[in-house]
Amino acid sequence: MKYLVVVPDGAADDIDEEYFKTPLEIAEIPHMHELARRGSTGRVKTVPDGVPPGSDAANLAVLGYDPEKDLSGRSPLEAVSMGIELGDRDVSFRTNLVTLEGNADNYEDLIIKDHASGDIPDEDGRVLIEYIDSILGSGDPKNGGRLKFYPGISYRHAMVIKDGPPTENGFGDVYDDYKNYNTTPPHDILTRRIGDYLPLQENEKYFLDMMKKSYELLKNHDINKQRVLRGLNPANSLWMWGMGTRPMIKPLTEIYGIDGSVIAAVDLIKGIGICAGLEPIDVPGADGTIHSYMKGKADAAIGEFKRGKDLVFVHIEAPDECAHQGSRAEKIKALERVDAEVLGPLLDYLRGTGEDFKVLLLPDHKTPVKLRTHTNAPVPYVVYDSLQENYDKYSAFTERAVEDKELIPTGAELAKKFFSGMDEKGQA
Ligand SMILES: [Zn+2]
Repeated sequence: MKYLVVVPDGAADDIDEEYFKTPLEIAEIPHMHELARRGSTGRVKTVPDGVPPGSDAANLAVLGYDPEKDLSGRSPLEAVSMGIELGDRDVSFRTNLVTLEGNADNYEDLIIKDHASGDIPDEDGRVLIEYIDSILGSGDPKNGGRLKFYPGISYRHAMVIKDGPPTENGFGDVYDDYKNYNTTPPHDILTRRIGDYLPLQENEKYFLDMMKKSYELLKNHDINKQRVLRGLNPANSLWMWGMGTRPMIKPLTEIYGIDGSVIAAVDLIKGIGICAGLEPIDVPGADGTIHSYMKGKADAAIGEFKRGKDLVFVHIEAPDECAHQGSRAEKIKALERVDAEVLGPLLDYLRGTGEDFKVLLLPDHKTPVKLRTHTNAPVPYVVYDSLQENYDKYSAFTERAVEDKELIPTGAELAKKFFSGMDEKGQA
């Protein structure tokens, strides 16, 4: 049995009075509707009430985990996708290179101009983070070898504190403490005075000191002097947030005996896949936008099945991205591309192998174009099983077609339904 999971991110929308029809209803998505007619459909609540409906929580649920229990922060997922090995008690912090501005003598009185430092090139970001690490991170003997900065992409990096004894620099049992840290995503406070958002509690003093020192070090770095001369935003301070530990989840191999791969342009999703025991596959040109090379994802997924993988999890970011930008037309186009360039070729391939297969098709969460943000509302799903074909000509992959169908209360229950037919050891 082969398992294909296709997630058009944020595809579900609201039925509103203005447009009456949702993007899924308008889009030409014949493969999705055909799958719905031949499979079983319904609604599933991927993100529990009270949990922020981020793609991290929602995709954990899609893979059958409990976001309430298994998710602690975005940084560890990104760190895992960067290839950093995180132990159970290692805490990872998303570390932005940000642009602070102002003539103030006090760090606290500066304002935050840019959470992304003008999208600083990867190479310059790497040089700055390695410089910081040599002084404030692994290069500082007072850290006892427990703290390290890892360069990522552009302005997005990671700082990892290993579990261990307290250090001279004042951080102790971070594993027990990080949940009480008071941090703010920098993109939420642009143009504001940073003093109102800094980690000022006693147990956070260490991080505050590090941010202040980073400003002293970075503002005078050659790369930043050059950037200022060229009218670009300098990457003149660190900003830590989004910390947590890696999800302590059982890999799918252990739960279902399934060996699989994850294909996603987004670090977070890749990280979730890795934590779930899936192998991450990079697809050049697949970048999470409407211009993404989607056909490349289908080809890569087919390649994974040919390599003998039982499961391929394909995540496509574009519909969500278009909804965030408030563009209905682009969201519709993105869905049509997923249907034609990802789902179509994959179904053709799977049918052609003669092997039994199952497909799970669902958005991770809703991203209504009108709201331009995610919601916790249930989403439509399709489970197709080549061994149990139905034909219901009224069925469709739309919000309205499943409106009166049974609601599956969690992603975990849907995953069980999808992967069922296997015993504990994964034998079909
Ligand atoms: Zn999402």
